[in-house]
Amino acid sequence: MDNLIRVLRSFSEGKEDKEFVDKLIDLLKDKLIDTVHQMYIQGLKFDNSRTIFPDQWKIIYSGLKEIDFFKYFIPHEYGGRKTTEENLYFIMELLGYVCPSLGIIFVAHSRAIDLILAGNDESQKKRFLEILSEGNFGAIAMTEERAGSDPTAIELSAKLEVDYYAFHGEKTFVSNAGLATIYTVLANTKGKRGARSLSAFIVESNTGGFLIENLPEKDGLKILPTGRLVFNNSLIPKQNLVGKEGSGLLLVLDVIDKGRILLAGVSCGLASRIFDEVFNYSRKRIQFDRPLTSSQDISFKMSDMITQINGARGLCFHALKQINTQHYRNASSQAKLFASQMVMSAADLGLKIMGGRGYFKNSMINMLSADARGMEYLEGTSSIQKMIISTELFKNYD
Ligand SMILES: Cc1cc2nc3c(=O)[nH]c(=O)nc-3n(C[C@H](O)[C@H](O)[C@H](O)COP(=O)(O)OP(=O)(O)OC[C@H]3O[C@@H](n4cnc5c(N)ncnc54)[C@H](O)[C@@H]3O)c2cc1C
Repeated sequence: MDNLIRVLRSFSEGKEDKEFVDKLIDLLKDKLIDTVHQMYIQGLKFDNSRTIFPDQWKIIYSGLKEIDFFKYFIPHEYGGRKTTEENLYFIMELLGYVCPSLGIIFVAHSRAIDLILAGNDESQKKRFLEILSEGNFGAIAMTEERAGSDPTAIELSAKLEVDYYAFHGEKTFVSNAGLATIYTVLANTKGKRGARSLSAFIVESNTGGFLIENLPEKDGLKILPTGRLVFNNSLIPKQNLVGKEGSGLLLVLDVIDKGRILLAGVSCGLASRIFDEVFNYSRKRIQFDRPLTSSQDISFKMSDMITQINGARGLCFHALKQINTQHYRNASSQAKLFASQMVMSAADLGLKIMGGRGYFKNSMINMLSADARGMEYLEGTSSIQKMIISTELFKNYD
């Protein structure tokens, strides 16, 4: 991990919030890396529907609360001590190194916060951001059975009935399902298909008629709770609408641009972990009376890996510099596309270098590889990133 920290500091030119980052690094090194390892080996996971979490999760959660981690996602005026996007990126790489699932948990959490901030109702922001700054999790729910890459197909219906919107329908593949207290949900308020039919809402976990269901087990990212949200005549107060009716998709798309860089950061952190695992192994593993690293084939594979990791990281830092410019969407999609492809290729090379050991289920490289494969789907698959990049390219390239 020390190498990752050194490289990250050279990319960030030492501009990170050192006090905050140092506290997190100590926590990760002293406690969380071992706790997460136990969870991997023992296959511990959440029961989302009954909100039952393994004991190890409590160690992770209380450690993060002790260092005031949740406050860093919330602006000062709402009770937090919001850090910069560069700092968030920095910590996502660290989380990706130790536990990619934890990285995704906080990407989803921070995007829920950004969506609430994108609204225009001060009392709404005050109320819900305070809840989130106190150590409660947020989630963002868009995907449905028939609306994956194409959110305009969203069917979850929200019908205004005097003071409430009545919700009927379902969301699926929701990160932080069961863990979150606050769900930001994209619903259809017009009863017909289309981008302008979608509105964003805040749904509290204790809302009547709202249930969480478990999904089948994932191949990787096992520490990330992922579930289905079921709404059966759930009454959502009118004041929980974020922004205006029909503005939901536009608000969410802006929020997702930021999420993409953070996810790319999780991928870079995860790839660095894969690199370290493989590097340490290949220096110790002796074949033909020599360590594996003395073979040019192995050392070239390692060279490819580290070059790709730093290439992806470079795209991420480049994208971070484009925030608030017209090039931001394109840059964040490029970073996400490249980083999620890079981490799969790092996992592939890693598995080759580990030989037969890597093929066994409980080997670290095998578990990290399963995590790596999951990084492609969130905030738009690689094909969707290419759609965004090509659209932006023709709009803004001069
Ligand atoms: C671990 C995990 C966590 C997730 N967390 C969340 C979450 O917190 N909130 C949430 O809302 N969603 C979440 N998702 C859902 C994720 O955003 C979707 O899986 C993703 O958007 C793709 O949708 P889909 O799976 O339905 O695939 P589809 O949309 O059915 O796509 C299938 C394939 O077709 C390709 N494709 C589709 N349309 C086109 C096209 N026009 N041109 C070219 N290729 C195309 C896609 O790239 C993909 O390869 C999560 C998913 C996973 C796996």
